[in-house]
Amino acid sequence: MPAFHPLLLTFLLALLPLLVGFAVNSAAPHPPTAARVSARCTRYCHYHACLHATPANSPAYYRLRPLYELSIRVLAAGGGGAAYVLANLLVFLVGIPRPTLGCCCS
Ligand SMILES: [Zn+2]
Repeated sequence: MPAFHPLLLTFLLALLPLLVGFAVNSAAPHPPTAARVSARCTRYCHYHACLHATPANSPAYYRLRPLYELSIRVLAAGGGGAAYVLANLLVFLVGIPRPTLGCCCS
């Protein structure tokens, strides 16, 4: 049973973004869309660069954008599609949670 505990915690951590996404989309004043909308951010801003952010209203966006782009390039180094998805899962669901949770099942 002790080996099950880290797996359960990892699974619950993996569910957390889904729950937050569901809560945010449920409470949003507009339905989710990937279309470009000039008056507000949409998924278009996620898939491309945000056209609404400026250094004045989003200084963190501009400071962290190079780190974000570097992480995307590293994750996509093995290829797109399934390889990119697998790289994301390995890094964010295995690589980062394992040392963070102090996993002792090695
Ligand atoms: Zn935007």
